[in-house]
Amino acid sequence: MSKTYKTLARPALDDVSVSVDKGEFVFLIGPSGSGKSTFLQLLLREEVPSDGRVIVADWNVAKLPRRRVPKLRQRVGCVFQDFRLLNNKTVSENVAFALEVIGKPRHTIRKVVPEVLQLVGLDGKADRMPAELSGGEQQRVAIARAFVNRPLVLMCDEPTGNLDPDTSQDIMLLLERINRTGTTLVMATHDHSIVDSMRRRVVELSHGKVIRDDARGVYGVGR
Ligand code: ADP
Ligand code: MG
Repeated sequence: MSKTYKTLARPALDDVSVSVDKGEFVFLIGPSGSGKSTFLQLLLREEVPSDGRVIVADWNVAKLPRRRVPKLRQRVGCVFQDFRLLNNKTVSENVAFALEVIGKPRHTIRKVVPEVLQLVGLDGKADRMPAELSGGEQQRVAIARAFVNRPLVLMCDEPTGNLDPDTSQDIMLLLERINRTGTTLVMATHDHSIVDSMRRRVVELSHGKVIRDDARGVYGVGR
């Protein structure tokens, strides 16, 4: 699959072929500009490939009718470096919102939100505002919101990029716990200390090309 932005001379992703099994935990690494975020945006249908296919479960993402994109985004949860919380809503309202927009009934929301807040270690903080929380806690809220629909895949784009090393470790433990529930995890990062400490599959991008994929052995640019 390839992705070319009109304003770019060379493709942001160039003949990339990566297959992730259900339940895997994969790091997507590479320097800034190598194509990591573009890769994740294709999974969410925020971008469409210029060439080739993007498949999530049995869905051909690029061909999905627009009206089904919200369903896709229930299957693919996302977490970002800058948390992207609704700052005028409480912690539990932020998480509930992900369920309200897809029309979940109120009794379900009342039951599920406290459960997921407990899972991410935020019970007791349900009524706080985001601004009253530390960065690590805000990221936990974002993870709770992304996970509350039990997505097949949780994609995280530099989720520890704004956090100190200890807090980053805590967030990684949480992401591992979520992965153990069966959710596939794809995490873009350029934090090598995290990647080195976790011994998970690594896919490395350089200038839009895959230069390493632990599922296939290591190979070089220009293969
Ligand atoms: P990374 O996340 O690894 O830093 P990106 O996927 O954000 O890489 O970017 C890959 C390349 O695509 C970069 O050259 C970037 O400038 C370019 N790019 C990303 N998004 C857009 C866009 N919306 N329009 C044009 N170029 C883009
Ligand atoms: Mg990026």
